[in-house]
Amino acid sequence: MSDFTDVIVIGSGFGGAVSASRIAEAGIKVKLIERGPWRDSVPVRSMGIKNRAPFPTGWAHLTHLVRTLRNSKLPGGRMTLNKKGFMEVHIGKGLNIVCSSNVGGGSHIYSGLNVKPPVPGYWDGIADGLSDDQMDAHYESVFRRMQSTVPAPKQVKQSIRGRFAGDLDTAPEIDQLQMGLLFAEDPDNPKEVITVDGVTRCEATPGEDGNLGSPGGGKATLDFAYLARAMKHGLEILDLREALAVRPSPEGAPGRYRVNVENHHTGEFESHYADTVIVAAGTLNTLHLLLRSRDTKGGLGGMPRLGQHFGSNGDFMAYWNLNDRTQDLTKSNPVRGLMRLEQEGDGQTNRPSPLIAEAACPSPDNLPIPGWLKNKFRRGSLVAGMGADAQDGTVTLEKGKLKIDYNPDDSEIFAEIADTLDQVSEKTGKKIYYLKRPTTVHPTGGACIGRGLEDGVIDGNGEVFGHPGLYVADAAALPKPPAGPPAMTIAAWADHVAECFIAKFQAAEVES
Ligand SMILES: Cc1cc2nc3c(=O)[nH]c(=O)nc-3n(C[C@H](O)[C@H](O)[C@H](O)COP(=O)(O)OP(=O)(O)OC[C@H]3O[C@@H](n4cnc5c(N)ncnc54)[C@H](O)[C@@H]3O)c2cc1C
Repeated sequence: MSDFTDVIVIGSGFGGAVSASRIAEAGIKVKLIERGPWRDSVPVRSMGIKNRAPFPTGWAHLTHLVRTLRNSKLPGGRMTLNKKGFMEVHIGKGLNIVCSSNVGGGSHIYSGLNVKPPVPGYWDGIADGLSDDQMDAHYESVFRRMQSTVPAPKQVKQSIRGRFAGDLDTAPEIDQLQMGLLFAEDPDNPKEVITVDGVTRCEATPGEDGNLGSPGGGKATLDFAYLARAMKHGLEILDLREALAVRPSPEGAPGRYRVNVENHHTGEFESHYADTVIVAAGTLNTLHLLLRSRDTKGGLGGMPRLGQHFGSNGDFMAYWNLNDRTQDLTKSNPVRGLMRLEQEGDGQTNRPSPLIAEAACPSPDNLPIPGWLKNKFRRGSLVAGMGADAQDGTVTLEKGKLKIDYNPDDSEIFAEIADTLDQVSEKTGKKIYYLKRPTTVHPTGGACIGRGLEDGVIDGNGEVFGHPGLYVADAAALPKPPAGPPAMTIAAWADHVAECFIAKFQAAEVES
């Protein structure tokens, strides 16, 4: 394996997998560095990948659910339980954060909701060259590759609209729930199919394609939706490799940047070199990596706005104690519907409430958990509200520990969501329980797009101000909350970053 390549991409979630694939498919040499393992799914087996780690179900739930716990009270600020574990949990002051670790990143844990920001104009005015109109083609490209579809009514089992018609006024546009699931023609008899890339996957099976993974491939994950094709174009994927720092290349070494990497297969440390490095390790880990790379001796320096404008997308999670004994509510699609309630506005117009998604709890069939908890999973739901928060948090590195400063009281959205959840409880007679401190699965910002060093870290093409060839292609780039599920927005951004980079690379080749 050569240590130099044109491009190194760090992280293989929606930002990393999409940018790495687009660039590799344009014929440019790309190395993708991912700290997590390949997951043991039907599609990944059919791709011929030998070294696979289990999803956190069955007994693997005990050993493979948690990868890393982060809290400033832990030595070094974090404790890694299993490098092949599935989830990373940050328990912080004012905010908890959950993300995942796999080849394919958050696509394994996500619920499959594929949407654009609910309020038009998200991209307008952020930086030169960016607008909603210009980003449309990138969203389209991503929706196509993820095979996003709106399920037919017969394919949405236990829909919220069906169960609560009369009690809840769900807004009509919310029925158009686009998802990255391959819905079965006959939902009671899902079939195996071969994708255009020659990968085997199964049609979605209610209860089996959720937040603990999709072993059959009913949910489109990035490992086969993007990476399988890019590997045929030469994309090199280094799994179980953790990037520790990005440094300027020392004299005499190839490329502009050196990436220091820990190889979790061997326990050894490696150096990889490239002219271009795209950081896409997920908001929290991208910020950690960039702060570490900037602040240590011989580091990158610059980036005065790094760690500012960090946010939670207004996420607020809760458990809905439906106590429904008539059916197993985990045997459905991962998301059963969205709701918005009409609420009082300024007296003249009614303002809609924040968006609330109703999601299935993971199926407890194969989980080693007590019976009473299995019943809570089967008879209740998870509900998640989201919306525009102030995105005014900061992330800093203090004595090597990541410190997040986020005050939920700065953002009215949390009180609005709590109020909406209370109204839903009242209208349905079924209690919703939540913690005061929000938990986000959609952290955003901290390495934001801006017009210059004074208001951002990266420009409208994703390139870091003052560091040519260094890019940010994940949710850390987003300068404001998408206010809805963000995966498609991150993927569209990564598609845009890749397209800009490819044009620049090809123009330089013609010149030389
Ligand atoms: C339970 C849950 C449900 C969700 N449901 C939805 C949904 O329905 N719709 C939606 O739009 N969004 C959803 N999301 C959010 C979505 O998953 C994230 O917004 C998205 O994955 C973020 O993409 P990313 O590229 O920024 O990072 P990620 O997808 O998190 O990818 C980052 C990758 O980088 C790797 N990495 C980290 N550090 C390093 C390092 N130092 N070196 C090498 N690799 C590294 C990680 O292991 C990871 O694989 C959900 C999230 C969760 C947790």
